[in-house]
Amino acid sequence: MIFVLKQNVPQERINQFIQKIESEGFSTFISSGTEHTVVCVIGNTAKLDLNFVVQTNEIIDYGKRVTEPYKAVNRTVHPDDTLVKVGNITIGEGFFQVISGPCSVESEEQIIKIAKSVKKSGATLLRGGAFKPRTSPYSFQGLHELGIKFLLSAKKETGMPIVTEIMNQTQLPLFEEVDVIQIGTRNMQNFDLLKEVGRYKKPVLLKRGLCNTIEEFLMSAEYLMSEGSTQVILCERGIRTFETMTRNTLDLSAVPLLKQKSHLPVVVDPSHAAGIRNLVLPLSRSAIAVGADGLMIETHNNPAEALSDGAQSLDLQQFSALMEDLKHRITFERKLISKIS
Ligand code: PEP
Ligand code: MN
Repeated sequence: MIFVLKQNVPQERINQFIQKIESEGFSTFISSGTEHTVVCVIGNTAKLDLNFVVQTNEIIDYGKRVTEPYKAVNRTVHPDDTLVKVGNITIGEGFFQVISGPCSVESEEQIIKIAKSVKKSGATLLRGGAFKPRTSPYSFQGLHELGIKFLLSAKKETGMPIVTEIMNQTQLPLFEEVDVIQIGTRNMQNFDLLKEVGRYKKPVLLKRGLCNTIEEFLMSAEYLMSEGSTQVILCERGIRTFETMTRNTLDLSAVPLLKQKSHLPVVVDPSHAAGIRNLVLPLSRSAIAVGADGLMIETHNNPAEALSDGAQSLDLQQFSALMEDLKHRITFERKLISKIS
């Protein structure tokens, strides 16, 4: 249940209202938008008389039952788009960003070379895996702590904020200087990890589980937000279907749906969705067309020799050409989408 407050209510009166609600056994969280403050009441609200609460608390403009199980991520609770700030970069409605870099950090020289090149092409955030969740225990598992160190060198060289994946909560102390913590597809429902990362309050890039529904995806984001995280980016990276010609199937309808159901920015990862290099450009174009707020694209200085995901990685020239192609579409398509909605 949510209560939208009247404008300019003093904080003290809001606190009194919250105390009263919580003394009845509910928990609450506040969502502050540019125009409205919303108090969201969590618990068995069936026993709460909505009209009575509205009538007896004059600070309330109106109340509403939120039927979906996700509350904090729900657009009803927070009608404005959330803009995620990473350093001086903003991701969200009107601010389209491209995250690029190799699947795995392989050496300091490699990550710096890629960072410089993708930055020149227009990427604003650098990605690279240091902890790699691999299907086979015999595959390259990442450089771990050293990988993060090399990412930080690349950040120092280029000024690009870094995005890298965490696999379990014991690794958190190593993520102190990481700008965006990635939670990968295989960990989307690792609830202990979600809770710990949520408490850490750094921007998070949450990837959709390869076998998870959109509602489950939103519930995982809810775990992060219910622990205090406000800066969550959702990433559609393809789901498993009966199709075998692509690595996964990019669920494009998830993008507008997620943006309708929630206020969080949504980015698309066409690289893991397709698993094939030459599908990355057409899928990127379509992600822009359906309203994505950004892209995550794997790049490598020598994809043929990559230690992971070479088949889907663009080389640095291909990435530069892709960015040239997309630049015009980003402004054109976004104007079109805002007209329709
Ligand atoms: C990755 O980004 O390199 C990765 C492992 O992605 P996903 O979790 O989507 O498979
Ligand atoms: Mn990868």
